Formats: sequence, structure tokens, C-alpha cells
Amino acid sequence: MNAIVVERLGGPDVLRLKEIPEPQPGPNEALVRTEAIGINYIDVYYRSGHYKAPHMPFVPGMEACGTIEAVGENVTALRPGQRVAYASALGSYAEFVAVPVAKLVVVPDGVSPRQAAALLLQGMTAHYLANSTFALKKGDVALVHAGAGGVGLLLTQLAKAKGATVITTVSTERKAELSRGAGADHVIKYTEADFAAEVGRITDGRGADVVYDSVGKTTYEKSIDSLRPRGMFVLFGASSGPVPPIDLQYLSGKGSLFATRPTLVHYTSTPDEIAWRAGDLFSMVESGTLRTLIEYEYPLAEAARAHADLESRKTVGKLLLLP
Ligand code: NDP
Repeated sequence: MNAIVVERLGGPDVLRLKEIPEPQPGPNEALVRTEAIGINYIDVYYRSGHYKAPHMPFVPGMEACGTIEAVGENVTALRPGQRVAYASALGSYAEFVAVPVAKLVVVPDGVSPRQAAALLLQGMTAHYLANSTFALKKGDVALVHAGAGGVGLLLTQLAKAKGATVITTVSTERKAELSRGAGADHVIKYTEADFAAEVGRITDGRGADVVYDSVGKTTYEKSIDSLRPRGMFVLFGASSGPVPPIDLQYLSGKGSLFATRPTLVHYTSTPDEIAWRAGDLFSMVESGTLRTLIEYEYPLAEAARAHADLESRKTVGKLLLLP
């Protein structure tokens, strides 16, 4: 089969198409023929070595939608021919992938393979951030960075559905339009304006209840300055680079703040939790209350170009690879 293989860590050019043997499903696994493969920022961290892959060489990618070709021993709940999707299992940049069935969800007919691959990883992230890490309620003010990104557009829609006031940050006017289209109440161009000062102005000096910060290095200090006393700093990514160590004492002076560094795997730790989050997302897509934005699709062979585009900050919404 064709797959993208990383033989050495580095920039986008280390993503090379190769012919490798098709995987065999082990016990409690299903072999999935991929139809749409989700690209996520975490793929950049694995490719560059910021996150460590379990072995070298490796096939990158954590997310796909496809059809079950075969199942391994002990698998009774799923069968060949079913359309499934998953997030958080390494090896999706390939025509076939063997996935633990505990990670798979059946995709309803009303959701296309592209939508499912655009939804699961970033959507379940947005879902846990808005429902579990800081359970938003009507009237809360949430600051969401990179509002036109994959997670940003979904998180904005979920936060609005919960009745929150959403302030987003973006780098360009086109991204500002898309963020407003997703429901953002206020959009700040953080490349031009001091976003902490803007949040202060918008909230009459009170500050945001929660900041969802996936940008990291270039935003964390002002994110903390954007919070109300006893607000929550949720650091969930490092698109601009990692945040240096923070002395917990710092949070006291800034207003008895809460800080957390959540990650999807701990919020999708059981099949029930995955079914809850994915089920909510699928129903919202089917009812038209949640929209995915897919403007960037690449043939599998062009994974390197896709990564270069994602890192160059020009993309919006979801990026997909098509096998
Ligand atoms: P995005 O589509 O959001 O792309 C990244 C965006 O970050 C860019 O488009 C850009 O938006 C912004 N950005 C700001 N500074 C930089 C920079 N220096 N270089 C590159 N981008 C920058 O990606 P994803 O939706 O895939 O992921 C968003 C973030 O969420 C990532 O950090 C990812 O690691 C994290 N994440 C965390 C999870 C978790 O459970 N902890 C799960 C899923 C994602 P703009 O131009 O508007 O500034």
C-alpha cells in the first residue's frame, strides 16, 4: 500500500510517499481502508520530534475516516463494510490502517467521510474544552485564540451553542470574517492589537472567564492578563512554540487563577466517552447546528505541501489528505 513514512525527523520534506506492506489487524483491532485522512497540528509535533513517536521509521497521522476491510480476533461489535472514524491512533497517513476498535466510532449516513475526518480530533477537542475542562454556561466570556483554525472554528460554534460570549483572535481579515461566520461576538487581530487590552475593553475591565490558548509561546502571557480573578487559563497547544515553565506563585498575583494543560487522550479515555463526544458532534452536523470548513484537500503524496501550508499560518479550518 501507499503510505507517508517518516524515516528521519525534520521539516515537511521528511514526509515521503513509500510503498510498504499493508498492516494486519491484531486482536481487538480493525483494518480500515482510509477515505479521508485528517491533518492536525499534532502531526507536526511528531514529524519534528517535539513529540516522540514510539518507533522509527513511522507513519504519521492520528485521524481518518474509512471503511472496515477486516477485523482481528475478539472483535464482535464491528464488521467489514461499516464506515468508521477515529482520532488519536498513530498511522493514518496511509491507504490502510489497523486501529484498536475501542477508538472507532460508526459514522452515521448523514455525515460524509470528509466531514467525519474533519470533525473527530478537532471536534472532540473542542467538545471536551467547552464541556469538561471549563464547562461553559450562558453568560460566560471565553477567549479563543486562532479562531479561524480547525479547532478554533469548532470551539467557537460549540461555545456559542452553550450561550457564551466568544472573543477570538486571528491574524488576517479573511480569518476574521470566517470567525465571525462561526459566531464569534468579537474578533481581535492579535498581530496588530494588544489582545489583553481589547479583552479588558470588551468586558468593561472584568476580564474573560476562560482563555483557550493553543498558540502558546507568543500568547500565554497576555492570555493570563486577559482573565478575570479566579478565571481559568487552558493551555492546549503550542502552534507558535512551547510555553516556558511557569512558577505557580505567578498565578496568585494575577488573580488566584486556575491553569491546566489538557490533552485529548485523557478526555477520550473510554469508548463511552468517545461515543458521547462523537455522538454529540455527529448529531450537530446532521441537524446543521455545527459546520465543518474544508478548504484544503491534498492527495496523500502531497502531505509535505500540506504541512508547509499549515505551519505557514495561511490555512483556515480543516486540512485533509485523500488517499
Ligand atoms: P490550526 O488550524 O489552529 O492552525 C494553527 C493556527 O495557529 C494558525 O492557522 C494560526 O492562526 C495560529 N498561529 C499563531 N501563531 C502561529 C505560528 N507561529 N505558527 C503557526 N501557527 C500559528 O491547527 P489545529 O486546529 O490543528 O490545532 C490548533 C492547536 O490546538 C494546535 O496547537 C494543536 O496542537 C492544538 N490541539 C491540542 C489538542 C489537545 O487535546 N491538547 C488536540 C487538538 C489540537 P492565525 O493565523 O489566525 O494566528
